[in-house]
Amino acid sequence: MANIGFIGLGNMGGPMAENLLKAGHALKVFDLSADAVAKAVEAGATKADTVAQAVSNVNFVVTVLPAGKHVLSVYDGPDGVVANAAPGTILIDSSTIEVDAARKAADLAKAKGFGAVDAPISGGTAGAAAGTLTFMVGGSEADFASAEPILDAMGSNIIHAGDSGAGQAAKICNNMVLGVNMIAVSEAFMLAKRLGLDAQKLFDVSSKASGQCWALTSYCPVPGPVPTSPANRDYQPGFAVDMMLKDLKLAQQASAASGATTPMGALAESLYALYSNGGNGGMDFSAIVKMLDGEK
Ligand code: NAD
Repeated sequence: MANIGFIGLGNMGGPMAENLLKAGHALKVFDLSADAVAKAVEAGATKADTVAQAVSNVNFVVTVLPAGKHVLSVYDGPDGVVANAAPGTILIDSSTIEVDAARKAADLAKAKGFGAVDAPISGGTAGAAAGTLTFMVGGSEADFASAEPILDAMGSNIIHAGDSGAGQAAKICNNMVLGVNMIAVSEAFMLAKRLGLDAQKLFDVSSKASGQCWALTSYCPVPGPVPTSPANRDYQPGFAVDMMLKDLKLAQQASAASGATTPMGALAESLYALYSNGGNGGMDFSAIVKMLDGEK
């Protein structure tokens, strides 16, 4: 069993850390939120007061942070991961960040001789809790092989996508599909409502027909058909609107930089920005159905 420094115990990181503990690993945890740390300690982790404490004398460091700037600030500098981890430590970053930031983080790590992978996640908070996440991993074959047993304790699909940054590339492409799909599914439910078609009936049909997709069958944006979806708990996240907006922005930046044509992704970004600007950034991203229903 491994010693792991775990940084970022939010909606995803919290349950991921608990699954590592359940698998028998020893965790030192750090987060800016005292409540998040307390919860992990209750589950069996050891509290660290600083990043440096969390990452000293461990075999692996796992980070699950909001954005690229957080990852780079936690990795870099005299108090950061790279300056304080022991030689041979493998660094696993499961945050969703820019491809360039992921490559920069990997370069910082490799310059000091650490193994490093970007390993963003898909599957939502339910997948994080159940240990059934999908990991899309960027890094060398050797670093992937080192990280895989740790990722196995938190997920059920571990895919080596390519070199450093390839995990993030897969993630932003996947989440562009999700953002667009959630809006399409929401539009369908709102059209059904105006047509007098029961939401459960639309679900029964579309979940077995060609409209089937994860946004519908695992994360249905209207209350009822999927009991675990945030729609049944007043759209508390889950996966926040501002997190989806971040991913859609990453996709559009990457699209502009690479010359890809992604008009549906651009429209999804605009709609999520509109909803966030209405003061809804902290709602679950499936709450966009309410905007499409005419609510503010
Ligand atoms: P979150 O906001 O719930 O958690 C982030 C945690 O990081 C918070 O507890 C925060 O206190 C902590 N943090 C921020 N800066 C820190 C720092 N400098 N040092 C230590 N701790 C710090 O976010 P989340 O929903 O858990 O998402 C985390 C990452 O996972 C994001 O990159 C997100 O895009 C990605 N993701 C989220 C979901 C989801 O369904 N929530 C799904 C897939 C991927």
